Amino acid sequence: MKTFSIGGLHLPENKLTAGQPVERLPLPAEVTLLLSQHIGAPARPIVKKGDTVMRGQLVAEPSGALSSAIHSPVCGTVSRIDTVKTPQGLSAEAIIIKTDESRPDALCSLSPCSDVVEATRAAGIVGMGGAAFPTPVKLTPPADTQPDTLIINAAECEPFLTCDHALMLADPDGVISGIRLIMQATGVNHCVIAIESNKPDAIKLLRRLTASIPGIEVMIMQPRYPQGGEKQLTEAVTGRMIASGKLPAAAGVIVHNVATARAIHRAVTLGEPLIERIVTVTGPALSRPGNYLAAIGTPLRTLIEAAGGLPENTGKVIIGGPMMGRAAATIDSFTVKGMSGILVLPSDLSSRQPEEPCIRCGRCVSACPMGLEPYLLSTYSRMNMTDEAIDALVANCIECGSCSYVCPSWRPLTDFIRIGKQRAISVLKSRKQS
Ligand code: SF4
Ligand code: SF4
Repeated sequence: MKTFSIGGLHLPENKLTAGQPVERLPLPAEVTLLLSQHIGAPARPIVKKGDTVMRGQLVAEPSGALSSAIHSPVCGTVSRIDTVKTPQGLSAEAIIIKTDESRPDALCSLSPCSDVVEATRAAGIVGMGGAAFPTPVKLTPPADTQPDTLIINAAECEPFLTCDHALMLADPDGVISGIRLIMQATGVNHCVIAIESNKPDAIKLLRRLTASIPGIEVMIMQPRYPQGGEKQLTEAVTGRMIASGKLPAAAGVIVHNVATARAIHRAVTLGEPLIERIVTVTGPALSRPGNYLAAIGTPLRTLIEAAGGLPENTGKVIIGGPMMGRAAATIDSFTVKGMSGILVLPSDLSSRQPEEPCIRCGRCVSACPMGLEPYLLSTYSRMNMTDEAIDALVANCIECGSCSYVCPSWRPLTDFIRIGKQRAISVLKSRKQS
C-alpha cells in the first residue's frame, strides 16, 4: 500500500461515525451566511434587509479573484446584514435569512452552463476538505504547468471525521460524474481516487463503479496522518515531490477533495450551487454522533442538538478534526462551506498538560511531514525572530499538529509555529511588493 515518505503518524482512528448513513437535517428557522467562508476577500452582498430570496439564489457575489459567490440555502426573507461571531470568536459580516416554511423549497437553479469552470464559479464552489480555496482557480492550472494526473483526495486521514467516507457511500455516482467533469475541464486523462484502507466498503464500491471507465483508478493508501495533505498525497500517489513554495500543478498534479468533485457534479448537471454539506458531528460522550447533511449557515448548536446535545462534561468543541481543527471559542456560530466536522471532547480528553522544557529528543523532527525542525521554528516564533523563521522555512508548515502531538514535554509547538508562519507570510508579501 502506498504512503508518503517523510514523518507522519499512525493515530488512533476513533471513527465513531464510520458506516453511519448521511442524515439530512430539516432546514433551520434562520440561516446565517458568513461573507468570508473562503480564502480571499469576503463576498459582496447583493441583497438588502427585507428582500425575499429563493433557495439557490445568489445573495453575495465574489469581490476578487480568490473570492467566491454565496447563495441562499432556503426560501425566505433577508432579516439583516450584521456582524456575527465566527467559531473562533472573531467578528465577521453575514447575511441572515429567515426561512419561510410556507414557501416551497424548489431550487432556483443556476443558468445552464456547459463550461465546467464557469459553472463552478457561478455555484460558489470552494475546496470542501477544509482549505476553502476557490475551485475555479484550481481548475485552471498555471499556463506554465502541464498536469497529467488528477488526484481525488478521499484519504480522510484525520481521526474522528467520516463525512467524506459517508458521501462516497451515499452518492458514488455523483462523485464519479464530478471526476469526469474535472477531467474534461482540465484535459487530464488519468485520475487516481486515493482512499485509505480503513474504508473498504467505499473502495469496493468505487472500484466496481469505475471498473469500465478508462483513466480512473482507485488506489488504496496505507492509513497515515497527514496523508490528506496535498504534498503528502501527491508524493504517495505519484512518487513526485512538490518543491518548496510550489503548488501540486508544478509536479504535474491537480488535487481535489472528493466532496468538491461531487459539488461540481451537482452544479454542472443539476444547476445546484453549493448550499449544503455533510458535517460529521462526533465525540465520545455524544449520544447520537453522525454524518449530518445541513444547509450552509446552520447554527452549530442545531447540529450539536441533532447529535444528542452538548454533554455536561464537555471540555472543548473543535471545528474540524482533532489534529488540524481549531478549538471553538463559541458555539453560537454557523456552518461554512469548508466545515467538515464538529468534535465535542470531554474535559478529561481536552485538558492540556503544563508545558515542560524541551529535552531535545527530536521526536517533533521525526514526525514532521514537511521535514522541518518544529522545536526550532517554535522558538523563533516565540522570540519574534521572523527572519530566522523564514530561513528555517516556517512558511512550509502545513499546521498538521504532528509535532505537538508527539512532544513528551507537552510543548504547544504548532500554536507558536502558526503565529510565526503568519508573521513570515506578511513579511514575505511586503518584500515581494517592495
Ligand atoms: S505543524 Fe508544521 S512543523 Fe509541526 S509537524 Fe506539522 S508541518 Fe511540521
Ligand atoms: S518533541 Fe518536544 S521535547 Fe522533543 S525535541 Fe521536540 S520540542 Fe523538544
